[in-house]
Amino acid sequence: MTADRPEYAFELALCAHLERTREWVLGRQLGASVADPGARVVDVCAVVPGPEFDRRAAITSETIPPRAVECVGPGRAVDPVSAFDCAPARARRLADRAVEVGFFEAERQGSRRHVRATTRYPDWIGGLVGIENKPDLGRPGDLQRQLRRDTSLGLFDAVVLATESYVTGAHLNRIPDDVGVWRFSEASETPRGDGEELRSSGNRPQAGDGEAVGGGLTVVREPTPLDPTEPGVEPLTEGSLRTDVAIVDSEAKARKRRAIAERAYGKGWRPHEYPGCASMCPTDDGRPYCTAFDRVVDPGHDCGASCPAFEAADPPAVDREALRDARTPWVADPDGVTRRQAGLDRFR
Ligand code: SF4
Repeated sequence: MTADRPEYAFELALCAHLERTREWVLGRQLGASVADPGARVVDVCAVVPGPEFDRRAAITSETIPPRAVECVGPGRAVDPVSAFDCAPARARRLADRAVEVGFFEAERQGSRRHVRATTRYPDWIGGLVGIENKPDLGRPGDLQRQLRRDTSLGLFDAVVLATESYVTGAHLNRIPDDVGVWRFSEASETPRGDGEELRSSGNRPQAGDGEAVGGGLTVVREPTPLDPTEPGVEPLTEGSLRTDVAIVDSEAKARKRRAIAERAYGKGWRPHEYPGCASMCPTDDGRPYCTAFDRVVDPGHDCGASCPAFEAADPPAVDREALRDARTPWVADPDGVTRRQAGLDRFR
């Protein structure tokens, strides 16, 4: 067992809470920079369903490759190697993946395979909320710089800081004005384990200065809406004397918004695997709860034969898809879209 990772358990508890209380689709740990890919990973991205959400859900439960959306429509079938602006092998892989998830269909034209989209890409993203988790504001790390970057780039419609700490006026002064602040108690979502039965303490109220909106979440400060349709400024390197920045135009932001929403849709927030350990007793909402340490653990970080309390057993049966399907607008196993269903004649 390695060091306690309170941020992980806090993050999963917050996701479980938001899933229970809002009609959002959530994904964890997603890239949120444009000019310098990989430079910023946001803890949680919440997609607020837009007008054609159901059409999006009907296509596939997985991520539609964003490049596929940009490069190929539902009209004339095209050769992916010429449609995608990248190396031929990569273009073919992208096309294969888009076919696998049901967004493309393939046909032969002579010796070459061509593809077209099975449907028009829907207008399904009603809004994006970027959430940064910092359970302990006494250990802020890079928090200020991350939040300044998020508000300056304006990729999200709103940016929120979630913390378990009591939020003082001094804290608020250090957090950019546009960033909303939630106080959230992980304990309000954390089950108590007795080895046999895990119970959720559910809606236990949380004291705080702001408005309580259900369970252990209190809005200390509402976020100021950002405007993702305007160009943004992305800091690249920050020195004491100068900061290099990139101006990110609205088209690039729109592409990145679609990419992060697709990633959130396909990825979700639950762990992909639960360890085969006798102490692993997942909560009803799918968080990896360890009865030996009486807390939610990170399977990829905490678990395995090196853990002193590890005891080999069958992995627990957790149907992540069924849980997500039942609790969110995400659809686990849609019928898919055929050209006839999509009324493709419109596009000819
Ligand atoms: S579930 Fe098992 S391996 Fe994971 S932390 Fe608990 S005792 Fe260790």
